[in-house]
Amino acid sequence: MRVGWIGTGIMGSSMAEHLQNSGHELHVFNRTRQKAETILKRGGRWCDSPAGVAERAEITFTMVGTPADVEEVYLGEKGILSVPGTCRIVVDMTTSQPSLAKKIFTAAAGRGISSLDAPVSGGDIGARNATLAIMVGGERKTCDAVMPLFQVMGKSIAYMGEAGAGQHTKMCNQILVAGNMIGACEALLYASRIGLDEKAVIDIIGKGAGASWAINYLGPRIVQEDFSPGFMVDHFVKDMEIALREAASTGLALPGLVLVHQLYVDLQAQGKGASGMQALMLVLRKLSGMAVS
Ligand code: NAP
Repeated sequence: MRVGWIGTGIMGSSMAEHLQNSGHELHVFNRTRQKAETILKRGGRWCDSPAGVAERAEITFTMVGTPADVEEVYLGEKGILSVPGTCRIVVDMTTSQPSLAKKIFTAAAGRGISSLDAPVSGGDIGARNATLAIMVGGERKTCDAVMPLFQVMGKSIAYMGEAGAGQHTKMCNQILVAGNMIGACEALLYASRIGLDEKAVIDIIGKGAGASWAINYLGPRIVQEDFSPGFMVDHFVKDMEIALREAASTGLALPGLVLVHQLYVDLQAQGKGASGMQALMLVLRKLSGMAVS
């Protein structure tokens, strides 16, 4: 197929490469062209704008950063929906607002285009290994049509309901990740204060009832003092703020999420917004009077 891909950052570059490796013709746009070079060297075709992608592709995937980026890419002046292109299906895989997913669904439908919100979980490792969990909102028949392409990028794909349901499901995921992150960091903080072998602690508790992606995949990075992204603090704060707004709009109190959000805001204030989410450990070390690099 002629597949459009917009957003070749940490996640998007790996996901797009899987589609390319499975034989699809890629038409690519990214804000910074340099980050698309690997795909272009392997035969991907550069487009000058999201509209340029939609003019050539049959289906277009987007994996950009924030809801503002999504809005620009779909509804902006040179957005996907600004031209009567060849593209019949659009799939936003960014973690974004459920309300924006609905707005894009309606705008796309008005142009005869089917739209899905299909955010992912599984991190940079999941993107590289094509083992992502993909949660899909929109029409079921569109999800079924896109399934062979989803299966190239992910291992678990679930249809969750109407437009926005994928993003709502992703918010459940991020609420859970927030709890797991502070749990993993506090467990390792305790292990280090007591003088346990932290790698050995991860090896055994990562197989018990306390197991989580946070302890098993980010725990070892913390032990190695590797705070590079993975998943950026700025993106995680963006996600928690979407979840907090959605929760507040339904009168829901999520005190655990509020606490973790505040600790990450502290991290941003220290200039660590582009660090990986495991940098939460630095805030916790500071609270306990430990040296922080
Ligand atoms: P990233 O590395 O920042 O990638 C985002 C890419 O989108 C960047 O290359 C950026 O361009 C591009 N972009 C942003 N606005 C654009 C626009 N208007 N037009 C064209 N390109 C644009 O972030 P990521 O880690 O890949 O994450 C992408 C999304 O997936 C985020 O919503 C994140 O929350 C979510 N997510 C991430 C992970 C993870 O572990 N990293 C896991 C699950 C979900 P530049 O190159 O110019 O910056």
